[in-house]
Amino acid sequence: MGSPRESSPTLNLVMLGPPGAGKGTQAERISRTRRLPKISTGDILREAVHNRTPVGCAAREDMEAGRLIGDEVMIAIVRERLSQEDARNGFVLDGFPRTITQASALDRIVDGRGPLVVLDIVVPEEVLVRRLASRRICGECGQNAAVDWLSVCGKCGGQLIARIDDGTEIVRERLGVYHRQTVPLVDYYSARPTFRRIDGNLPPDVVTDAIDTALAEASARGVHL
Ligand code: AMP
Repeated sequence: MGSPRESSPTLNLVMLGPPGAGKGTQAERISRTRRLPKISTGDILREAVHNRTPVGCAAREDMEAGRLIGDEVMIAIVRERLSQEDARNGFVLDGFPRTITQASALDRIVDGRGPLVVLDIVVPEEVLVRRLASRRICGECGQNAAVDWLSVCGKCGGQLIARIDDGTEIVRERLGVYHRQTVPLVDYYSARPTFRRIDGNLPPDVVTDAIDTALAEASARGVHL
């Protein structure tokens, strides 16, 4: 006789994709439906900047210029966050890893905790530039907001603002950084049976359905989700 499962199935999810691909929106949805923590390194850093912590003060200039923060700092942040109780049965990582060094550190951090499932969200560059130009976040809590249906933050009522790093010039820099430093991760992960490419140039609900299908397929192939 089998004993009852002591814990929920694990889902260690990595959302890959360029800025503006919709990683944050989809990560939020998966996190809600599967009751897993969404861990966004961009959000963690923005909060650190807002609170003027030492990490935030050191990161601010690079973030505003669209450059990546050093691997050592980012790996330490993620290692600490993944060691917390709520990440024991899985997590949704948004914005990490972004370099090969971060990806291999992540493999070591999650060693023995079940496989990583990696979704690469693909969106054409001109669509990304358009999306980022109209993106707004809450100046108070940092939540992303769709400008076309909200004039204040739906979560806390705060004023909506454009992200400094969503300006056209900085977006070009961020996309360049993405191509140089993050695209190599596709090669790093693509041979794994738990890697999936997702078309992100579709309405958000259609993308969510495609992600659910991809996760169900991964599950059917023996990944316990
Ligand atoms: P995001 O909200 O994911 O677009 O991140 C905003 C900014 O935070 C990036 O442009 C980087 O400056 C920094 N950042 C976030 N995640 C990372 C990471 N994994 N490695 C290095 N820098 C990061």
